[in-house]
Amino acid sequence: MSYFSIVQLNKDRCWICNYRKETELEVRLLPYLCFWCSSRKSDEVDRITIRSLIENITTEVEEHLKQGRLAVCEDIDALSFAADIGDLGTQHLYLKQFSSMIGLITVQVALEGRYTPSRLLKVAAGSGPAKWFRVRECIRFLTDVGLLEQGEGKYIYERFRPTNLFLALTASVEAVSKVEEELPPRIARCVAGYALLRGIGISIDWLQRGAQGEPKGVIRLYPRDKHGRLWIPRLFTAPTMFLLGYLAHGHNEFSANEIRSWLHRRGIQREKDVAWIVNWLARTVPADHRLVDPSYDGYSYHFKFNRLYIRMRERYRERRRGGRA
Ligand SMILES: [Zn+2]
Repeated sequence: MSYFSIVQLNKDRCWICNYRKETELEVRLLPYLCFWCSSRKSDEVDRITIRSLIENITTEVEEHLKQGRLAVCEDIDALSFAADIGDLGTQHLYLKQFSSMIGLITVQVALEGRYTPSRLLKVAAGSGPAKWFRVRECIRFLTDVGLLEQGEGKYIYERFRPTNLFLALTASVEAVSKVEEELPPRIARCVAGYALLRGIGISIDWLQRGAQGEPKGVIRLYPRDKHGRLWIPRLFTAPTMFLLGYLAHGHNEFSANEIRSWLHRRGIQREKDVAWIVNWLARTVPADHRLVDPSYDGYSYHFKFNRLYIRMRERYRERRRGGRA
């Protein structure tokens, strides 16, 4: 395994959703990303891009967190949406170690007002240098998304310290629960989901700028093979981009077949994987999200977005019409 942070990416696939481009033109017009995930502005007034949906959600989440509302994340649309995405991240076989790390850091910051990396080694997968590499990338990821910042000092726990945003959000956790080892699950998912969403936005910007140097954002958390090549954790990123895109592009509902054929083009073709995603949406496997209301007609599922999230999207559209986003 190579522990060098800089990577060489192919231009012919989307490094967020795993879409593989079929034509040279697609590769030339938009390397590293697909049109679905790109932040190119649409001419249609009513359409917002995924990038601006993410921007709107994460900005609102930050405002709520600064005002100590993490404890009531159930009742606030943007916070609840972040927790839903966090649930998908927490269920991913590889990414869940990072959700655990984020949870541990949050507990420590809540209790001690500082952070040290030693606990993270307990939950990082692998051994030796691979373990350290994952912890380091997680710390850098949290720096990218604005929860940690560079401090001064000789040791890693001095070099990175919690930002004001992180301190503010942990203060509200401390007030509502007896945090000792673990956060209440929905709160943990909200923090992880915020970081993942913000991380996706940052990665989209980095890819759009030409994918130079060290990856930024969520791509830091992607698994690597022994040659240091990145793998896209598509069972997390693809359904997330589908949901964000459908919502951003103005849809209120979708069928199991629509998501199935969309995922198929992103290399999710095994029936087992597709079924898991559909069942996660339908909450027939353990799932803790309010993204959609499922209905079943005896053959297949149909999903309607949670009305709160549709209203949230409408709010962002209004802002766009008003020229403020
Ligand atoms: Zn894509």
